[in-house]
Amino acid sequence: MSAEIIDGKAAAARLRARVGEIAAAFEAVAGRKAGLAVVLVGADPASSVYVKSKGKATVAANMASFEHRLPADTTEADLLALVDALNADPAVDGILVQLPLPKHIRESVVLTRIDPDKDVDGFHPVNAGRLATGLNGFVPCTPLGCLMLLEEQLGDLSGLDAVVIGRSNIVGKPMAALLTKASATVTVAHSRTKDLSSHVARADIVVAAVGIPHFVKGEWIKPGATVIDVGINRTEDGLTGDVDFDGAASVAGAITPVPGGVGPMTIACLLRNTIVAAHRNAGVQLGK
Ligand code: NDP
Repeated sequence: MSAEIIDGKAAAARLRARVGEIAAAFEAVAGRKAGLAVVLVGADPASSVYVKSKGKATVAANMASFEHRLPADTTEADLLALVDALNADPAVDGILVQLPLPKHIRESVVLTRIDPDKDVDGFHPVNAGRLATGLNGFVPCTPLGCLMLLEEQLGDLSGLDAVVIGRSNIVGKPMAALLTKASATVTVAHSRTKDLSSHVARADIVVAAVGIPHFVKGEWIKPGATVIDVGINRTEDGLTGDVDFDGAASVAGAITPVPGGVGPMTIACLLRNTIVAAHRNAGVQLGK
């Protein structure tokens, strides 16, 4: 058997186009563009590339992009002052502080300073709590993108067995919460999990968010399962995921490639969260 390759690039392009249409309609009603502010502290090359592509995608989706590039020696107090100003700025609907921050700045202090209703990354504990309790909030973009790909591929997820490998606040935990909400039966695996392969062998859905190249082996996968590879690992052979792609693709029903799978969905979901934030902040009803 050879798995269907889930085209995350195409799914993300469709989502970005839809967000662009909604953003144009929002501008017509609200009399202003929806706005996303992205803050980068320091000159980490990977972060710099992410920030640039987020800005480009924001403008392409008919929204305003406000980029704040601060020097690496910016104090925590100065960064918090900028977050306060963005919280108070009515032109800014979403705020994203690019991680990682320099070591002298406490990430948790900065992330909790963002107004939860502008927290389009969904990292604020209030939004984590909203997700955990089934309230409307912002869901972190990467797991939201994974859920969209899964629902596009499988339709209703209810009753399916899902294994999420990884329990980070950014990917694993919100992924498990989203799958639980979608009525899958969810197992969360991590570095202390015993006999991981036996859990994976039962899973209709495998989401790998580990950060170790080729960690999930093809022979662990249940025939026909859907495999979502969140991993982005820079190796000598280029970018690779957390799943042994060739091995898994010969058993799975469907699988995301790296690159071109989950990655493109992350920015598309950021745009989606921003247009949702704009509607809420402006008190404008969100169309379909
Ligand atoms: P973290 O390092 O925060 O979390 C990794 C998780 O994997 C931890 O929960 C850890 O367990 C678990 N783990 C580590 N070793 C093992 C093991 N041997 N067996 C089982 N579980 C293990 O990473 P992130 O969640 O932030 O990211 C995961 C991957 O996804 C990375 O490759 C990252 O680059 C990528 N990523 C991709 C994004 C995208 O846009 N596509 C966005 C964000 C991340 P424990 O908790 O016990 O330590």
